[in-house]
This record gives sequence, C-alpha cells and structure tokens, in this order.
Amino acid sequence: MELESILLPGMDDKRPLVIAGPCSAETEEQTLNTAKSLASNGIKIFRAGIWKPRTKPGGFEGVGSIGLQWIKKVKAETGMYTTIEVATHDHVFEALKAGIDILWIGARTVVNPFAVQEIADALQGANISVLIKNPVNPDLELWIGAIERIYRAGIRRLGVIHRGFSSHEKKVYRNSPLWHIPIELRRRYPQIPIFCDPSHIGGNRELIAPLCQQAMDLNFDGLMIESHINPDEALSDASQQLTPTALDLLLNLLVIRDMTQTTESLTALRYQIDNIDEGLLELLGKRMRVSYEIGVYKKEHNMPILHTLRYGEILESRPKSGLSMNLNPDFIKKIYSAIHEESIRQQMLVMDESKFEE
Ligand code: PEP
Ligand code: MN
Repeated sequence: MELESILLPGMDDKRPLVIAGPCSAETEEQTLNTAKSLASNGIKIFRAGIWKPRTKPGGFEGVGSIGLQWIKKVKAETGMYTTIEVATHDHVFEALKAGIDILWIGARTVVNPFAVQEIADALQGANISVLIKNPVNPDLELWIGAIERIYRAGIRRLGVIHRGFSSHEKKVYRNSPLWHIPIELRRRYPQIPIFCDPSHIGGNRELIAPLCQQAMDLNFDGLMIESHINPDEALSDASQQLTPTALDLLLNLLVIRDMTQTTESLTALRYQIDNIDEGLLELLGKRMRVSYEIGVYKKEHNMPILHTLRYGEILESRPKSGLSMNLNPDFIKKIYSAIHEESIRQQMLVMDESKFEE
C-alpha cells in the first residue's frame, strides 16, 4: 500500500494531530461558535456530523445538507480544514461539491461491505482524504476490507480511527477499546496513520483524558475528540462532549513521550496483558456463578457438596490439556486447587442459606 501523507498544508507533524468539533452540527450558531473557539485554541481540523446514524428511530438524525453551508462558513471564517461523516453515494457527492477536506466513514457503515463499496465507487478519482473508523464489532478483517476498498478507489491520503467496539455487556467503556486490534492493524500496515476517538470509546467526559494518554503512549498519530460549545445541551452524545476550553486543558496536560521502539512495544504488550486479564476475570466470574448454581442444585437434591471423584478428574484432566498450550502442569494444578476451593466455599454458602430457611 503506497500512501501519501495525511498532513495538509499548514499542519505540523507533531503528535497528536487533533480533529475536534461537535458530534452533530445543530444550528449555524452552535457550529460557528464551537469552531471559532476551537480555532482560537489552535485546532486545525473541525469535525461535525450532519447525517447521523442513530441506533433507534426518533433520535436526532442530523440537520442534513443545510449543515454543509455552515461548515463551509467555518472554513471561510476560521481557515480550519473540515471533516464530516459520509455513509452513502449522495453524501460523498454533496461533500465533494461543498469542498469538505476530509471524509470519515462511520463505524456502523464500515460493517457493511455494500455500503463501503458504494462510497468507494463515489470516491473514484477524487482528490480527498478519507478516515475509516473501525466497524462496531471487533473484526479486524472487516476493517481492513474497508481500507482496501477505499484504497482501490484511488484514495491515497488514508487514515483510520479507532473508536472502540460495542458489546452487549455493560462495561466501564461505551465501546471497549480492545487496544490489541488497532495495534495489530499497525503491525500489518505501519504506514497507515491511526487516530483514536476517545469520545465514542469512553462515552463520558471523565474517560476522555486517560484514553487520550493511552493512545499517545501507544504512539497513535492523532485524536478525534467531540467538542461542543455547550455540551449539556447537545442534541446527540451530550455526556461525552467537552467544551473547547476543557479540550484545550486536556491537550495541554497530555504527556507526549518520545518513544523508542522498545517502550512502544512494551506498552503495547502491557495493553494486551490488561485485555487478557479482563477476559480471565470475566471467565472466572462466570465459572463461579455456574458453581453457585450447582450448589443450588445439590441443595435441592439433597446431595453432598464434595464429590471427590469429580475433583480428582478435574485435577488430572486440566493439567493435561494445559500441556498442549505449553503450560506447566504443576502450575495448572495449583490454579485448579484454588478455583475448586473457592467453588466449595461458594456452595457451602448456598447450603448455609438452607439452614435459615428450614
Ligand atoms: C460520530 O463520530 O459522531 C459517530 C457517529 O461515530 P461512530 O461511527 O464511531 O459511532
Ligand atoms: Mn457522536
């Protein structure tokens, strides 16, 4: 893949390259006031959604094409570059006509190869920059597929945006960062600049700063952050938007480390460990819940807690299975003894409950 620099005239190559602006353009006044405030703090690229993909009908679906006029005004009055989300052939056509500088493809669009191909066809031969968000589901191949479609349309100023991955379980993050996925993308395509969108990962204001720092520690190139002149009144994503002043403060506090290859790899590896540990804890929690249910079953059927035969079977089979994954059998035995001990404790609690009931 041969790419051209994502930097447009007047942008310096210092990390992070920041894109900021409201989730949605709502009124001309809100769009311009936000943009002017951001520009006065040195932000060079202004984002605003005008066609909003909403999970459910009835939400604010964006102001539509009228917003293009406001964004053109932003460019004329502040000199900022502009970027909007496109999801269809018509969006691309209108954005190109309006002189938008950078287009981004949203997470809900990237999941659909038909939609991405439609956008790619509309972009054929256009001289514009395109940023591709990760799909909502953690599927790296799908993300790469979208990148390839846009590249094949002749787009050379290409970048990606990591905005996290949705999950049905309630978590700290609105969209889990699963850092190992963009890290793997970087390993395979080191030439593609990566932006982090902490707003859609975090889903609330407090998480934006630590996420930006993590993205910088992982040597990401840029940040796309939602900023609104009056976040609490925002018509979409109110809880995750920052005022331009809060954003400025946050950016000034970021520590940009001069990274050598070694520390970058170490940080990347540590994020992998964090992700794996999160998974291990989730599984342990699940296992203990099942243990508890077994306890309930035993109580109902008047069975004893300890089945020595079953315990022996686990202690024998698990170390054997572990061997095929290069795991030391003594280590696995120790872990399973501890897990079993905790299972027994859980089941004793269930039995004890019965004392009070009877
Ligand atoms: C957005 O950037 O406002 C947006 C809709 O993001 P995503 O596609 O990541 O959900
Ligand atoms: Mn948003």
